[in-house]
Amino acid sequence: MVRTIDGTEALTADMTAWRRDLHAHPETAFEEQRTSDFVAEKLASFGLEVHRGLAKTGVVGLLRNGEGPAVAFRADMDALHIHEQTNLPHASRNPGRMHACGHDGHTAMLLGAARHLSAKPNFQGTIAFVFQPAEENEGGGRVMVEEGLFDKFPVDQVYGMHNWPGLEVGKIALRPGPIMAAYDIFELTLTGKGTHAAMPHLGTDTILAGTQIVNAWQTIPSRSVHPVDSAVVSVTQFHAGDTWNVLPATAVLRGTTRTFRKEVQDMVERRMGELAKAIAAGYGVEAELRYERRYPSTVNEAAATELARRAAAGVVGESGLDLDPMPSMGAEDFAFMLQQRPGCYVWVGAGPSDGGRNLHSPHYDFNDAVLPIGLSYWVRLAETVLPRAA
Ligand SMILES: [Zn+2]
Ligand SMILES: [Zn+2]
Repeated sequence: MVRTIDGTEALTADMTAWRRDLHAHPETAFEEQRTSDFVAEKLASFGLEVHRGLAKTGVVGLLRNGEGPAVAFRADMDALHIHEQTNLPHASRNPGRMHACGHDGHTAMLLGAARHLSAKPNFQGTIAFVFQPAEENEGGGRVMVEEGLFDKFPVDQVYGMHNWPGLEVGKIALRPGPIMAAYDIFELTLTGKGTHAAMPHLGTDTILAGTQIVNAWQTIPSRSVHPVDSAVVSVTQFHAGDTWNVLPATAVLRGTTRTFRKEVQDMVERRMGELAKAIAAGYGVEAELRYERRYPSTVNEAAATELARRAAAGVVGESGLDLDPMPSMGAEDFAFMLQQRPGCYVWVGAGPSDGGRNLHSPHYDFNDAVLPIGLSYWVRLAETVLPRAA
């Protein structure tokens, strides 16, 4: 049974209004100017000390209540390049941009928590409310860390959350260790000798070499990774040739890999290069692999996860906890913050994911039923992680 904190009704009405306002005005990576102004204005009106400018549009609100440890709670503010198809009254007014990942809800919930905790500080110490830009693709969390987030705001721990369609409303899922995967991208350029398609013996075929490489790369998860560990190698683009009767001199393959552990990530990169070079050489083709590490895996620290578990149980009860969720092969740039500070990232149930209610769908809309639950989790977390106010 869900036990939200007392007196959330008025606040839930406000969070709903904020969330829908943000939804109607989505902004993408590092251009979240209106959103940033909105957040900063609200935080200032709650009496928090507001810091702006980290990662361009990032906002940090500090709430102090006496001496004590410091903790960071983080929300993401950015939208996606998607054309919204919900036809809702609060649908996107910025064509081609859409809050299809629920960051509007994450921002509203953390603002709600800032307001509640500033009015009723149930803790001793400092909370840094971190609102980051560009979670999608561009690593706004990484940029905030690089620009000194934890030097300017020296917190002991950092916590994050994401709404999770497919998990019932009223459930919270968390686990120690990896919860989301490392996300890397690659580009393979094959260079051979183009020729007339009717005279293949006069050239070297980049398309044939490429197809063999795509196949061989699939043996990395099945033959190079430990059977109980995991990895994904997905070729998502294969560009070669322009016409019917020419074997092209070049082919370019692109895609993404997902892994949980650094050793596996290193191995996947190495094996992709080895296989590509060896197979290409066998066909008289040159192979050049560019492999770029984007987001590390999101790894929850054990002690912080235990604190998050207690806070979550205070809201959704023991029966509302999923303590052994299958980690997701999706990625999350909160990972960069978890590399710097121990902490925990949880999934808050958002209800059924059918009928386009899944993340990144043009039919998605954040489920407002999650708002009081996420708010209550943050408030319980404050009193669980920090000493209670005397
Ligand atoms: Zn997303
Ligand atoms: Zn997201």
